[in-house]
Amino acid sequence: MESTSKRLELTQHLVELFENTPQDVISKIVYLLQGKIRPDFEGIELGVAEKLAIRAISKSSGLTTKKIEEEYRKTGDLGQAATIILEQKTQTTFLVENITIERVYETLFKIARLEGSRSQDMKMKYISSLLNDATPVEASFILKILLGTLRLGVAENTVMDALAIAYTGSKENRKALEHAYNVSSDLGKVAETVASKGIKGVEDFEIILFNPIRPMLADRVKSEREAIEKMGDEFAAEYKLDGERVQIHVDGEKAVLFSRSLENISKYYPDIIEKIPKSVLSDQVILEAEAVAINENTGEFLPFQELMHRRRKYKIEKAVSQYPITVNFFDILFYNGKSCLDVEYQERRKMLEKTVKEDEYSKHVPMKLIKSENDLEDFLENSINSGCEGVMLKMLDKPYQAGARGSFWLKLKREYRNELGDSLDLVVIGAFFGKGRRTGLYGTLLLASYDEDTDTFTSICKVGTGFTDEYLDQLYQILSSKVTIKKNPRINSEMEADVWFEPELVIEIVATEITLSPIHKAAMDEIRKGSGLALRFPKFTGKIRFEKFAEDASTNEEVINLYKGQKKMAHDKNLM
Ligand code: AMP
Repeated sequence: MESTSKRLELTQHLVELFENTPQDVISKIVYLLQGKIRPDFEGIELGVAEKLAIRAISKSSGLTTKKIEEEYRKTGDLGQAATIILEQKTQTTFLVENITIERVYETLFKIARLEGSRSQDMKMKYISSLLNDATPVEASFILKILLGTLRLGVAENTVMDALAIAYTGSKENRKALEHAYNVSSDLGKVAETVASKGIKGVEDFEIILFNPIRPMLADRVKSEREAIEKMGDEFAAEYKLDGERVQIHVDGEKAVLFSRSLENISKYYPDIIEKIPKSVLSDQVILEAEAVAINENTGEFLPFQELMHRRRKYKIEKAVSQYPITVNFFDILFYNGKSCLDVEYQERRKMLEKTVKEDEYSKHVPMKLIKSENDLEDFLENSINSGCEGVMLKMLDKPYQAGARGSFWLKLKREYRNELGDSLDLVVIGAFFGKGRRTGLYGTLLLASYDEDTDTFTSICKVGTGFTDEYLDQLYQILSSKVTIKKNPRINSEMEADVWFEPELVIEIVATEITLSPIHKAAMDEIRKGSGLALRFPKFTGKIRFEKFAEDASTNEEVINLYKGQKKMAHDKNLM
């Protein structure tokens, strides 16, 4: 799988693997394929440093750490270096025991659990005991998983395709698997269910309290007119607050908080954990809200950046009192032990209003029924004046579509009327070193949009403006841990960047125009054969979108729509 980036080939390999996998290890295999041992939201990190891995290889091979470092430098990959070193060794020794998936998995789990002063030595012992019994190729993959450098290029969608084919006989059943994944965020559990209970088991899959639900997302519109055209005669509009989306799971006194990217962020919001269960008038619920920083004296909403002060390891209590928030509820997904995903929006809103008691801290997001363009304009104006970004528009009779971006929800921001009409969220894929005051830092970044069809990141522009010194430093610190030796196969770019990154970090960009480009790969061949699309005069807005996954970045379809929109605008202007 490492040697191909073609989705079909990867799927075929996976199908073959799953068909030969006993049911009781399928979930483990699915986690390991993605270089994990549990779903992301559990936050279990293997956290093995290169130095420690090198010591373990040294212990198993009898070679000095210096020799191993030398080999590592030659190959650029510690897993591969271990293969070469252990191959030399196995010519003279015999393997004592075959290692199994269970043993690898259990050992990795033990390693992840270790804490305290002796943990480093214990970790090394566990690793070298695995390496002792592993074949050289097995050793390489064990190390890659431990170091977090396994790159098989299998996105969740590819795994689900293969699971559907292997266990239900048809790729068509992927939809049912996707639903189960969307409500549990646990691909291992989905795999286990389809393997043991078939398609029926997956269809009956239910929400599990304290497993995050993948959030519903909104399409965008540029004007009140367009919104009315798409939403029909009557719909709801809510303020679009500029804070952090939080999914709050409550069971009695207990609460757990997940971010938009499904990370458990309870530790940053001890105030929510303490207060919200008291405002909830039901036993078991899952709620969605926007946590917004406020000015305590005036009650005004403050921009999103203020909340980032809470993302710290120590002195959280101090941050809680320094950066107060309100929690603004906009949806309910689970009520008294039952899913509400299939309940219509207007009913869910009623349930929400009944379930959450309002006070100084907990609020219902302002909402209004809209029947005309004037209504909407008025509501948008009010929301902007209260410090919001715009409005969210929601169809009254529609369910909650977990994990999907669709047209049941639309977002309308005031700033969409400027320049390009929209900002873009783009993935940082590479960088060029800076000169002058930027020496030693990344002076220019190479950015990509997301191509949903091929699951790749296509280059769309280089950006060097909009960065203060503080941002340059911060970005350097974040990005230097994402540097790769080889370009990730999911990156599609012909640029010669000085460094390449794992496509993970998303930043917000504005630009004046989208143009055809012979070098950039976004929407290649879509508008004109041999040309891609690129941004003209791109500028960083100062927003690092920590809460977004790379796959949540602006898609090529969105870029094409913006391109077409701007052509139409130019045409309309000429006619005026
Ligand atoms: P965007 O990040 O620009 O795609 O906008 C979607 C985000 O808006 C959501 O993830 C929420 O964090 C935020 N948001 C603010 N107010 C609302 C609301 N009333 N309903 C839904 N999402 C909201």
